[in-house]
Amino acid sequence: MKDILAQGLSDMGIAPPPGAIDTLCQYAQLLLEQNQVMNLTAITDPQQVARLHFLDSAAILAWGAAHGKGQKTSSTWLAGKSLVDVGTGAGFPGVVLKILEPSLSLTLVDSLGKRILWLEKVCEALSLDGVRCIHARAEELAHTPEFRARFDAAASRAVAAFPALCELCLPYVKSGGFFLAMKSVESSPEVAEGQGAVKRLGGMVLESWDYPVPGAGLTHRLIPVEKRSPTPGDLPRSWGKIKKAPLV
Ligand code: SAM
Repeated sequence: MKDILAQGLSDMGIAPPPGAIDTLCQYAQLLLEQNQVMNLTAITDPQQVARLHFLDSAAILAWGAAHGKGQKTSSTWLAGKSLVDVGTGAGFPGVVLKILEPSLSLTLVDSLGKRILWLEKVCEALSLDGVRCIHARAEELAHTPEFRARFDAAASRAVAAFPALCELCLPYVKSGGFFLAMKSVESSPEVAEGQGAVKRLGGMVLESWDYPVPGAGLTHRLIPVEKRSPTPGDLPRSWGKIKKAPLV
């Protein structure tokens, strides 16, 4: 696993800080142990965890490196920034980003209390400081002043279709910040459908970025959305409304 991570991160233009690869291996061990008693991931082969969870999550840092938002050797575009991971599940992409960029101020949000309790233990075991684990529905938490428009970045993977995802995530982002939607290369139709929603939420979709997941033989897509103006106060709506009538 160490070799896969070291080679993969290097291929992605990411220089991990000292000890980060060992910490990722420890995280994988905790994940696979807990997965025997709690449904955390369908991927049980450690090498595939390294590729499909860890290297895939790291693509958010690689996006910054590829777009001139940080240097390969010293800092990443998330250095000293705040990020909320919406629907984090077992901590993807948030926990991986925190391990690779320790100065990140990270908030993990999930509606499943058991996963959040486990993530609290993981952060303690891995000595990750500056991580908040919040058990909440994203569309409700986004209306609280402590969380609304407070983040430099939001990220989300495998949670909802693009228009709904933007409604869940963009309200958290400050003007000038970014929401990064982690999607498949088949996401063009849902992204096209979400253009109106993004505008209403105060965002603008930037050029999407297709990246190979090192060693996995797969290409995934990152869709960056820049926050240009505040999200109207009535958004996000309840999950029932988001699902029934996506913003257009
Ligand atoms: N992001 C992780 C990953 O890529 O492995 C987990 C993906 S999992 C398929 C979706 C997660 O989103 C679940 O843990 C679920 O509880 C959470 N979720 C779904 N809707 C949510 C909502 N409205 N607010 C907060 N969490 C939500």
